[in-house]
Amino acid sequence: MPRILLHVCCGPCSLMPIVHLRDEGWEPTAFFFNPNIHPENEWLKRRDAMREAAMRLNVPLLEEGSPLNPGQWVRSLHGVVLQGARCRLCYRPRMERTAALAVEQGFDAFTTSLLYSRYQHHETIAEEAAKAAQTCGATFLYRDFRTWWWEGIAMSKELGIYRQKWCGCILSMKDALTQQKEDKARKAAQKAERAARLAKEEEELRLKKEAVAAHPNKRARKALARQAAQSAANSKGTLP
Ligand code: SF4
Repeated sequence: MPRILLHVCCGPCSLMPIVHLRDEGWEPTAFFFNPNIHPENEWLKRRDAMREAAMRLNVPLLEEGSPLNPGQWVRSLHGVVLQGARCRLCYRPRMERTAALAVEQGFDAFTTSLLYSRYQHHETIAEEAAKAAQTCGATFLYRDFRTWWWEGIAMSKELGIYRQKWCGCILSMKDALTQQKEDKARKAAQKAERAARLAKEEEELRLKKEAVAAHPNKRARKALARQAAQSAANSKGTLP
């Protein structure tokens, strides 16, 4: 059976590549090498999640490196901090090391679980992996593991494997925190708007009821009461 070195970025993303490479007849070995993950406790959580995934799927796991200090990692980007551009520089050393290790240990090919994520720059990963393969004479196996996106999520939840909230680097962590704050503020604004609308409608209804009660004509009172009931029903029907 041909042996393949599968670079793994985290536990959840590794599941479908392992399953489907096996389906194709490959014998995968996982390789956790991700110095881009910050802070250190997050790196440890993802490493442990990968150990858990490897144990559950009974796949050998190689590990290398440790998390770089966030400042050191950002300096390694030489000022390229824009999401997308910096990601290429983040994929590069991981693909280079995986390709080199595949050659060192006599694997028939290598690939990466980064090709599973819908949040990654898929084509850039494939380009960097192909370049790394060419440089050291390894064989890169391209697969679009995104096909099994939902199955992978379901499986990681079923196995109870830790699912991270940001891509990895300190910059992506800040982006995720900003996004969370914006989402929270938007939801709070929507809630306040709905409460104000309800209060306004209740006040209008109260005024209508007062007008009905104060009207001297009995028939007019009944007609106004019907209108008030109808408008109350209409307003209920339009509320989200
Ligand atoms: S967002 Fe993710 S892929 Fe991009 S640089 Fe940060 S850790 Fe790397």
